[in-house]
Amino acid sequence: MAAAILDGKAMSEDLRSGIARRVEKLKEAGIRPGLAVILVGDDPASEIYVRNKGKGCEEVGILSETVRLPAETTQEALEKEIDRLNRDDRIHGILVQLPLPGHLDEEAALARILPEKDVDGFHMINAGRMMSGVKGVVACTPKGALHMIKTTGLDLSGKEAVVIGRSNIVGKPMAMLLLRENCTVTICHSRTKNLAEHTRRADILVAAVGKAGFVTPDMVKPGAIVIDVGINRVDGKVLGDVDFDGVKEVAGWITPVPGGVGKMTITMLLDNTVEAAERKRELAARG
Ligand code: NDP
Repeated sequence: MAAAILDGKAMSEDLRSGIARRVEKLKEAGIRPGLAVILVGDDPASEIYVRNKGKGCEEVGILSETVRLPAETTQEALEKEIDRLNRDDRIHGILVQLPLPGHLDEEAALARILPEKDVDGFHMINAGRMMSGVKGVVACTPKGALHMIKTTGLDLSGKEAVVIGRSNIVGKPMAMLLLRENCTVTICHSRTKNLAEHTRRADILVAAVGKAGFVTPDMVKPGAIVIDVGINRVDGKVLGDVDFDGVKEVAGWITPVPGGVGKMTITMLLDNTVEAAERKRELAARG
């Protein structure tokens, strides 16, 4: 039997109506959550992401500000802009669209954002909180992917989870979230030997590789949950890391690309922004 589709679009619509209700509640208290996105240069893929983020904000009632800086912006000018947004009370979340042009220091830029305004969850403080199991901002893509996994209704405790990819923004936090759910987690990467031997054990397989069609049906355990994080542009088409047509015949559940994890990532960004505004309100109420 073909796999059930984990539909990121439908899940997002559902979640976004809940987020919109939380925004309304904040507005009643005189607070409108605000998200600022800094875009340096004119990378076409980044332009699309930034536009979609703006649209998402509009949909749920979040104030959105896009700061466009020229490709030749200096580190100093970028950090000055971040500092300005750190001080701006209307802004609860700041996101620096990655990748930055090569001459800029991404790590330093991300570290400049106040941890409480880091809605991407990339700041060292938030990454550290996540590692230690302390409440903090959770990176949007793994957070969205975990939500999708949970909608299967399966008990995740004790399940074998395999994550392909160990980046700081997807692979590692994804593995940590699955560990928190009491999965037995394996992280695979480009030096992993006999990759398919690992992936075939997986009850939950997350692909975050950046190579179109990398996961083939022979690499998948029958009935597994397969989460495709990949976004690869090939001949004008957007393809995932999973050979969708082949793998859907083996897996129990699968996410499509587009319309899967990517959609959820933006929804989780909206969620994190509203959460940041709620947290700020809570702290103010406590004095
Ligand atoms: P990175 O390039 O930072 O990481 C890719 C990972 O894949 C690395 O850990 C790398 O291993 C591993 N890898 C590469 N080749 C192989 C191989 N042959 N076998 C096993 N592992 C391999 O990418 P990201 O984590 O940033 O992104 C991954 C994908 O997810 C991309 O397609 C990206 O566009 C997409 N993405 C999608 C998002 C969404 O919202 N859906 C958000 C963010 C990213 P090593 O560490 O050894 O080099």
